[in-house]
Amino acid sequence: MSESSWPESWTWAADPVDGGPCVLVDVDGVIANGWHRQHFLQDGRKDWKNFFANAFGDTPIEGSRALVDQFAEAGQVVLLTARPNSLREVTLDWLGEHGYRWDLLVLRGPGDGRYSSPDFKQRCVADLRSYGFVPQLALDDDQRNVDMFRDEGIETLYIHSGYYEA
Ligand SMILES: [Mg+2]
Repeated sequence: MSESSWPESWTWAADPVDGGPCVLVDVDGVIANGWHRQHFLQDGRKDWKNFFANAFGDTPIEGSRALVDQFAEAGQVVLLTARPNSLREVTLDWLGEHGYRWDLLVLRGPGDGRYSSPDFKQRCVADLRSYGFVPQLALDDDQRNVDMFRDEGIETLYIHSGYYEA
């Protein structure tokens, strides 16, 4: 399968692989602690520009890194995030800066902005399965995504980030 046949919002850490067992790992609130920029979205603010512009300053969440590293011995690490594709470079820089182990990064591609996070991620699960990936575990901090993954028959760990509390 040629590289050009992959969805354009997929980025591989190294050579593409033909699917297999994988863990689906959310980025914001699961491996990246972005509390320092949540204020751009709170109290009625929807300053997505600055919210995203400050993503490089996130601190790693070491507990989930340890979990993912354990899984990486047995399968692929798929970072599945509703971040827009425009954050690809800053996300890659951040992963490199903090020495993360991952195999495939899936971002929201052009045209995906119309989908809610769970609808987007559900579509990604279907895409991943169509390429032979077998999601065995998911980590997410958005209860809507946890419910969706469970509906898809994927064991899921909820990580409490506190981002989604009213
Ligand atoms: Mg999240």
